[in-house]
Amino acid sequence: MIDARGVHKSYGDHDVLRGIDLQIKPGSVTAILGPSGSGKSTLLRVINHLEKLDRGTIRVDGDLIGYRRKGQRLHELSEREILHQRSKIGFVFQNFNLFGHLTVLDNIIEAPISAQRRRRKEVEPLARDLLKRVGVADKANEYPRRLSGGQQQRVAIARALAIKPQLILFDEPTSALDPELVGEVLDVIAELSTSGVTLVIVTHEIGFARRISDTVIFMDQGQIIEGGPPDQVIDNPEHPRTRSFISKVL
Ligand code: ADP
Ligand code: MG
Repeated sequence: MIDARGVHKSYGDHDVLRGIDLQIKPGSVTAILGPSGSGKSTLLRVINHLEKLDRGTIRVDGDLIGYRRKGQRLHELSEREILHQRSKIGFVFQNFNLFGHLTVLDNIIEAPISAQRRRRKEVEPLARDLLKRVGVADKANEYPRRLSGGQQQRVAIARALAIKPQLILFDEPTSALDPELVGEVLDVIAELSTSGVTLVIVTHEIGFARRISDTVIFMDQGQIIEGGPPDQVIDNPEHPRTRSFISKVL
């Protein structure tokens, strides 16, 4: 589902991603761990076109992100083509990022209608089903500010699902939540983890990562330090930096 090779990204003279190679299988669940500033968000953001990479390639479901190959040469995609690529990937942000001026229901049907040109008649019942699935069916006509953080994040997950993505990227989905609201959001993500959609989750919830992921990746200073099944990377890390990080957050 994701095939990243030699990905580099800098801001000025700060090398934030320094040669990322990453292969993620369809239907798998990958947790990305690592200290603050290690480049985790930037990696998700280049996969989803929110940032441009400087060097290397990323393929999502076979599509070269941001480029089209023509003979030997790569051509940059147009804004429209980029929107089309983005409309296949769900993204869940740390701070929910719901549209404040739209109701919950309108938040969910916005992308399917405007980016995917689907019909309201098809999308609205689907949106209501998704709200039911994440446990906020009764909030369809509310504005996001009237919801708790946990409810807003569950709406954001429903919004990500509404585009029928093959891939959903989560960037610390529970970091902005009061502790008592973390569980309800993790439960929704755990339920998704068995649904066949590919999930990539940046998280500091180590216990959760161990429970739901097939693969855990540890990043530090713009590089992937190690990756493997949770019982290896979390319970038996090879690299001293992984060991030190895990012992601090556990
Ligand atoms: P993480 O998510 O692992 O905490 P980030 O990917 O957010 O790390 O950031 C990695 C580094 O890149 C940090 O040092 C951060 O300050 C820097 N950085 C991130 N975004 C920008 C930006 N838009 N402009 C300049 N520096 C940035
Ligand atoms: Mg981050």
